[in-house]
Parts: sequence; C-alpha cells; structure tokens
Amino acid sequence: MLVSAKDMLTKAKEGHYAVGQFNINNLEWTKAVLLTAQECNSPVILGVSEGAGKYMAGYKTIVGMVNGMLEELNITVPVALHLDHGSYEGAKACIEAGFSSIMFDGSHYPIEENIAKTKELVAITNEKGMSIEAEVGSIGGEEDGVVGAGECADPEECKMVADLGVTMLAAGIGNIHGKYPENWAGLSFDTLDAIQKKTGKMPLVLHGGTGIPEDMIKKAIDLGVSKINVNTECQLSFAAATRKYIEEGKDLQGKGFDPRKLLAPGFEAIKATVKEKMELFGSVNKA
Ligand SMILES: [Zn+2]
Repeated sequence: MLVSAKDMLTKAKEGHYAVGQFNINNLEWTKAVLLTAQECNSPVILGVSEGAGKYMAGYKTIVGMVNGMLEELNITVPVALHLDHGSYEGAKACIEAGFSSIMFDGSHYPIEENIAKTKELVAITNEKGMSIEAEVGSIGGEEDGVVGAGECADPEECKMVADLGVTMLAAGIGNIHGKYPENWAGLSFDTLDAIQKKTGKMPLVLHGGTGIPEDMIKKAIDLGVSKINVNTECQLSFAAATRKYIEEGKDLQGKGFDPRKLLAPGFEAIKATVKEKMELFGSVNKA
C-alpha cells in the first residue's frame, strides 16, 4: 500500500540520512526502483513529473501500475507516489487519482499567491493523510521547459511557507536540474544553514541531485536535507547501457530485438544507480 512521505522523512531527519526520490518514466523504471528499494530495505519515493504523467497515459494508469507492482512484487518497504513540480491543477488531479504525496510548485507565483494556494492544498492533503512538498525560490535548470538560474531562497519566506503545515520544503540553495555546468558555484551551505535554523524540524528537499559531488551531498544531509531528488542520473545510465547493447550489435543477434532483452541492460543500469544513491544517502536498511 502506498504511504505518505511524512513518516519516512521525519525518521530520516531524526536519523541524519535522506530518502531518495527517483523519478519514473515507464514500467521498467518503476520496477527497477521498487525492486532496488526492496533489496536495499530502503524507503523510497517515486517521483512523477506532469510531463511523465502524460507520457505514461495519465495519473490513474500510474497509480494502477504502482499499486499492482507493490502487491505482485511483494514490496514491503515504505513507498510514496509523489507528484514532482505539480501545478495547482496537476496537484488536484493526483489527489483524485490516488497518489500518496504531492509537490505544489508555486515558486513562480508572487509569494502571497503561492501561500494562498499552498494553504488550500495543505488542508486537502491533511484530510486525506497525504504529504505535501512546497518550493520557495526557483530551482535552476530546466523544469518541464522552464529554465531558471539556480537562485537561493530567502530563509524568511521558507519559514512562512513551512509554517503553513507542509510536510517538506524544497528551497533553492544554488542547486539546478539536469547536468551541472563546468562553472557551477556549488551549493550554498550558508543559505541551507540559515533555512534549517528558521524551519527547525521541517524535512528539507534537495532537487537536482544529479552530479552534485558526494561530499556536498553528505554535508547537505548533515544540515537538514532529508529528501534528495534524482532523475537525470538514471536517464543517463539507462541511455548509456542501451547504447552499449546496440553498438555491440546485440539487438541483431538471435532474439536480441525482443524488448525484454533490449531493455534489460538499461533496467540493470537504473538499479545500479538507485542502489548507489541509497548507499550515499544512508537510507539502506532504514525501511
Ligand atoms: Zn525539482
């Protein structure tokens, strides 16, 4: 059964580790993340962007697929199904479809409007026992077509949004989505520390986990980050493994064209990436 992300993140914050959010794109992705979480005895959050939601034929399809896998693959570790960077309308659609967690990304609204809409969604999610993530300060890189610069959130605004009763808070600390540029300045630990001091027990979320050096990840966890989003890194390892299979001509040998064979190396590559992240984040054996 899907669970809210609240308990797993409260435990993570207290235990000084982080739970990974791995974004899913299809059946192989979902199965790879769930099986790895079970093998690692780790809690996990499956992330679904609105774009990926459309790609997978809609939120209800995803809820059906994930619930089916939890049962038929005997997944017993805590699993949350979470809308990533949801719009106001997308958040409502996911609540309706049976997700157990949502992110409402109101970071592009003026702070007053972000607060009003977040408040309304907090009331609905509380009533349903779901978790809700809010974002303050835009996170750079590409978020479904919108390219931001990687700004740092205002700790006062973070406190205002945290006080609305959200479960977890994503705050820009110089992190960006996708691959990091050569001249990236790194995470702003001063900002993170200031936000953590203002927001207390609130689990903080680090977006754009791909390519942040390991020592920075560990320091961010020390400073209160309890959820780390990983998306691009699984895409890169899936693509590299699939490329290798085809470049070696394996799709042309025997029944190598069978999708169950063709997609197997990419599937294994996602599993390896997820395992590596769970070890780095410290969530192994924390289910
Ligand atoms: Zn993000």
